Amino acid sequence: MGILTKLFSHSTMKKIPRIGAHVSVEGGIWNAIPRIEDLGGTSVQFFGASPRAWHTREISSEDTKKFHEARKKSTVQEVYLHASYLVNLASASEEIYEKSIHNLSAHLKIAEVIGANGLIFHMGSGKGISKEEALEKEIFGMKKVLEKTPGRAMLIMENSAGGGDKVGSDIEDIAYIHTLMKSERVKVCFDTAHAFEAGIIDDYTEKKIKALFDIWDEKLGMEHVVVMHINDSKTPFDSHHDRHENIGEGIIGIEGFKALAKEERVRDKAWILEVPGFDGNGPDKRNIDTLKSIFA
Ligand SMILES: [Zn+2]
Repeated sequence: MGILTKLFSHSTMKKIPRIGAHVSVEGGIWNAIPRIEDLGGTSVQFFGASPRAWHTREISSEDTKKFHEARKKSTVQEVYLHASYLVNLASASEEIYEKSIHNLSAHLKIAEVIGANGLIFHMGSGKGISKEEALEKEIFGMKKVLEKTPGRAMLIMENSAGGGDKVGSDIEDIAYIHTLMKSERVKVCFDTAHAFEAGIIDDYTEKKIKALFDIWDEKLGMEHVVVMHINDSKTPFDSHHDRHENIGEGIIGIEGFKALAKEERVRDKAWILEVPGFDGNGPDKRNIDTLKSIFA
């Protein structure tokens, strides 16, 4: 093989995502590691604190140690925490806004302590206030969260399904906030179901995927998207109704994910499933295997 051929074949080598899933931490956070390994995943997401409470509990040094030990023995490459669903940094209510800042910084601290890559959060809804105000609140709140929690763990904005004055259903909001945050720690998560439900892509064909990420690349820069939430959608395009479905069982369909797998700009991210599971117990091996098979 000549040098040019060699260089060429190397540069076209396909990157494969770190496929993983959201798992339960019942029994202690370290259990997330064997759970994802049992499913055959190399990236993992879990709640570092209750998803439906304002209160957060610090992770003890013993639990942290157990987590580090489990991770060291594993092949898990990336760890993400998912924030509480109560968090709303665009809220018109001062009380909810303050609680959101407090909860997010405490959760980000947990991410920092256990060495997670970052904390993914929903950007919330600015009901009753203007879009401009909602975005200003979001930025101010995120700055506070980062100030309160120094370190390396990333604060990751997730695109929303839109509706109800939700922030972050399109790239405009996300790119605007990202630019004004001016922080290396602020990154983005792209959720396939939310994008479909928000009405920013009506069909996951190669052409439409390319067109969408061309816009994301231009406005944000695809290098700032660090994680993909890979979910099929139970609800129609532009429904603003967030309901995830197992891969291939929803309206996006297996062909949609096959087309997504061909998009170079998302292949080098962690691909994390947040699907209901075929037994209704959350992401399972069958969903992970289905995703792996599209790269085979
Ligand atoms: Zn998601």
